[in-house]
Amino acid sequence: MADKPEVIECDENPFAIVRQQIEASAKYLNLTREEIDVLKSPMRELHVSLPVRMDDGRIKVFQGFRVQYNDARGPGKGGIRFHPQETVDTVRALAAWMTWKTALLDLPLGGAKGGIICNPKEMSQGELERLSRAYMRAVFPFVGPEKDVPAPDVYTTPQIMAWMADEYSVICGKPQFGVITGKPLSMGGSPGRGDATARGGMYTIREAAKVLGIDLSKARVAIQGYGNAGYYAATLCRDLFGARIVAACDSQGSIYCEEGIDPDAAYECKCSTQSVCNMPGVECICGDDLLELDVDILIPAAMENVITAKNADKVKAKIIAELANGPTTPEADDILFANGVHVIPDFLCNAGGVTVSYFEMVQNFYMYRWEEAEVHHKLDRRITEAYHSVYNASREHNINMRQAAYVVALKRVVETMKIRGWV
Ligand code: GLU
Repeated sequence: MADKPEVIECDENPFAIVRQQIEASAKYLNLTREEIDVLKSPMRELHVSLPVRMDDGRIKVFQGFRVQYNDARGPGKGGIRFHPQETVDTVRALAAWMTWKTALLDLPLGGAKGGIICNPKEMSQGELERLSRAYMRAVFPFVGPEKDVPAPDVYTTPQIMAWMADEYSVICGKPQFGVITGKPLSMGGSPGRGDATARGGMYTIREAAKVLGIDLSKARVAIQGYGNAGYYAATLCRDLFGARIVAACDSQGSIYCEEGIDPDAAYECKCSTQSVCNMPGVECICGDDLLELDVDILIPAAMENVITAKNADKVKAKIIAELANGPTTPEADDILFANGVHVIPDFLCNAGGVTVSYFEMVQNFYMYRWEEAEVHHKLDRRITEAYHSVYNASREHNINMRQAAYVVALKRVVETMKIRGWV
């Protein structure tokens, strides 16, 4: 095990939050100090410098990370983010959440995460390709279909996954597409991976609505973020439930329309004008107002720390479905729980992505392809079971859904660490 990393303790450092969450959950499992210490420490971290030739001929050096948090239950698994504000602590937190996520869904995988500090919106396709290939060359000895399998995340796409899987295959001297998931279909991607994160989230919303007695066909929904997860969440809320999207936003601003926003028109508007805000027939509202709207379901589908001690008391939604990773701070969790808001925590709500990634790994190992309906069915079964194990734990211990998810997941990780003789 690596030395304990230095962690800057502050309210919004995601890794400090992870460590707080582990401590808070440990008492329900009677964990020993040694077990807690192992859970609080990333197993392995790689920091890389990536010199990339830019289109103007200059070399620019990018910083990248891969954190393999815990592989007690199987090979590392988790996405790679391209983001200008990426930090190693964010990647550590996300890698830890991947560990809990795979355990919660009972996948035979560990948790890992990668990140590169860059702004993909300002880069050409050629620059992105060279950066993606440079990253794969740098992490090559540490990843592999049976070691650690990256995937897409914020601002990374199936095309980026294809370049990385190609680079890995070229170095190996043979096609090794199983090194990456979230690939295009023509390169061993799985049917159903594109909307898997949002679809898994919808199945958890369906189960939550059942236990809370909410009629989803009359539900009003606000979606914060309109990337892959947010856009598919909007279309699936309409297609699976007949629910109405009354508000949406992206990095440029927020829109509201009581009669309902057409998810596809909003997406087309975002593609053609860079923002949903240019849609005709909608009202532009302030971003913070979206989180405080009187809706049935609020779906944070963008970044960390958007629901905090400052605004949690003003949230009126009955269900918060966290498609983003880490959108709610621990203080906000306490406020929401006291106010009776049902939070479907991130590593349960957004676990559909990694679950279908796991199906992609299985198909790659078997050199086989499943039908999309089979993928949906298998995802539904796994995530529905995970939802109810979390819900039951929250009832049993009278704790919020996030703590309950921690209790279920940490129990499984610790059990395997014990069997392997780590603790
Ligand atoms: N990036 C996604 C997540 O945070 C998917 C990870 C994966 O497919 O490995 O869960």
